[in-house]
Amino acid sequence: MDFKQLVAHCKEYGFIFQSSEIYDGLAATYDYGPNGVELKNNIKKYWWMSMVQMHENIVGLDAAIFMHPKTWKASGHVDAFNDPMLDNKDSKKRYRADQLIENYCEKKIESKIKKDVEKARKRFGEAFDEQEFRSTNQRILDRQAKIDDILKRMNEHMRNDDMESLGAMITELEIACPESGSRNWTEVRQFNLMFSTQLGNIAGEEGKLYLRPETAQGIFVNFLNVQKTTRQKIPFGIAQIGKAFRNEIVARQFIFRMREFEQMEMQFFIQPGTQKKWYDYWKETRLNWHKALGTDPAKLRYHDHDNLAHYADAATDIEFEFPFGFRELEGIHSRTDFDLNEHQKLSGKKLQYFDPEMGEKGENYVPYVLETSIGCDRMFLAMMANALQEETVPDASGKDSTRTVLKLPFALAPVKVAVLPLLKNKEALTTKAREVFKKLSLDFNCQYDEKDAIGRRYRRQDAIGTPYCVTIDFDTLEDDTVTVRDRDTLEQQRVHISEVEAIVRKGVDMKNLFA
Ligand code: ATP
Repeated sequence: MDFKQLVAHCKEYGFIFQSSEIYDGLAATYDYGPNGVELKNNIKKYWWMSMVQMHENIVGLDAAIFMHPKTWKASGHVDAFNDPMLDNKDSKKRYRADQLIENYCEKKIESKIKKDVEKARKRFGEAFDEQEFRSTNQRILDRQAKIDDILKRMNEHMRNDDMESLGAMITELEIACPESGSRNWTEVRQFNLMFSTQLGNIAGEEGKLYLRPETAQGIFVNFLNVQKTTRQKIPFGIAQIGKAFRNEIVARQFIFRMREFEQMEMQFFIQPGTQKKWYDYWKETRLNWHKALGTDPAKLRYHDHDNLAHYADAATDIEFEFPFGFRELEGIHSRTDFDLNEHQKLSGKKLQYFDPEMGEKGENYVPYVLETSIGCDRMFLAMMANALQEETVPDASGKDSTRTVLKLPFALAPVKVAVLPLLKNKEALTTKAREVFKKLSLDFNCQYDEKDAIGRRYRRQDAIGTPYCVTIDFDTLEDDTVTVRDRDTLEQQRVHISEVEAIVRKGVDMKNLFA
């Protein structure tokens, strides 16, 4: 399904609404509807379970969104959390210079490479080896070299804060505004992405507060509080899920880039010098976490950074192939001792750890940090993109029909089981069905639905990804048996009511994802 259909599906089935829609919405801000909040909670649960519950040396935290303003001075966000932006004078639209250049590479060069690959795939058939073709075909190699050169130069200018050269690249590549088609650009300027607000009782700069642009700093400033109260030894991690805010210049692509979003971050505190080992470890561990959800490995890839942030000595993105191309889903950053050092300097408080295993008699040091940071909303979008499908299946009479089905992993599905009385106006059936619903709802998020023909009700549940539908019919009244329909296989088994709970429990258990 294409991206438009996906967005429409999210709205139609109560996953995501535009914020303040009745006022024509607020750009880049979204609300999660009844099914959306369930799916999002399940994603968070899966993350928390794998990071906190299943690691004896990772603990949780829930820090405030507001922090002392010095936090953001120390972290570098006041001075360096900028994006290079420029405006098109005709359309009055604002863009990020680096994104314009990256889009150019993708649309003007990468797309040609893809076309060549597809042509060759058709020509060679079964025997086609894409890797081999990409690494030997001269035309592809030339195009790839061009992309590499452009990105290399762009990263260099970004690193050197050289806005003029970045602007010159946009002119050189003849990049036009996607809206107006014109090349009438302003110069490129730096734009700080933090939202600020004002404390009520203190006027002026003194009372200026920021909405946190990342959850990580709440973890850093609490590093010793957590270490001391939990008596953790290095290496250990602190995990947190929470809102972050960024005044994104171009907020597009639905929930992919929002101004208010949610992060799931884990900071892993380690001995200096061990960062390479832990970087490799978390790179692999996090990719496996994504694969465990059944995501096609071809849709996931690493993208190592050339252009490192001021705090990092190594960084990679786990990219996912969204309907609009490969984009960052999660970042893995080796943050060195930058943040703790800066907080130590600005607060005047020591943020050191005594490590009895360092040196001969033990040593005091500022730990190094390995970070894994994933956007909850991007993960949500990735899951929806993976899951939403159109399928041809036999209908009740055995004829082919199409169904829209959300093939989420059972453990993440918003509703685990739907309870459906065969007919609405037979009180014996609805009473029995409500009994079953009441019982199952102690264990699972369930839905009771009696409206429309049974086939239509199945389709509604398919569209929100419900793994099981339990149907109460006249036989149920005789012998307490029901049919349990499986979303994916469409098989219907006849079982005793007392067995339903165990069947559902087994199918939707989050443990299955860790097998
Ligand atoms: P991008 O390059 O796409 O702007 P980033 O490199 O600035 O992302 P990080 O600072 O590494 O992102 O943040 C960690 C994660 O937070 C990202 O991998 C992404 O999943 C999520 N994230 C960042 N910005 C946004 C946003 N505006 N909307 C939704 N999720 C976001």
